[in-house]
Amino acid sequence: MKAPLPINIWTEVQPAADCRLCNSPDEHRHNVPVYRLSVCDLCWQQAQDGWPKEAEPILFAALANAGLLIPDRNDRGLLPRQYAPPKDYAL
Ligand SMILES: [Zn+2]
Repeated sequence: MKAPLPINIWTEVQPAADCRLCNSPDEHRHNVPVYRLSVCDLCWQQAQDGWPKEAEPILFAALANAGLLIPDRNDRGLLPRQYAPPKDYAL
């Protein structure tokens, strides 16, 4: 017989839909379908010219989870906020 696990109240109250990048429970959300992510308005605005370096591990993990390729970096050496997957990707 296993002892019952202690109930952690903090895991119970944590909303499921926090921003994936900064964990903010912002109600203004942006879906980023190319990364299969949903982020808050602030993170979306800050990523206008590319996602910040700190976000890259999260983005890479999201892409890997979805079986997607890592997009080419933009002129600033950052991952683009939006990109068009190659049309022949599925071939
Ligand atoms: Zn955020």
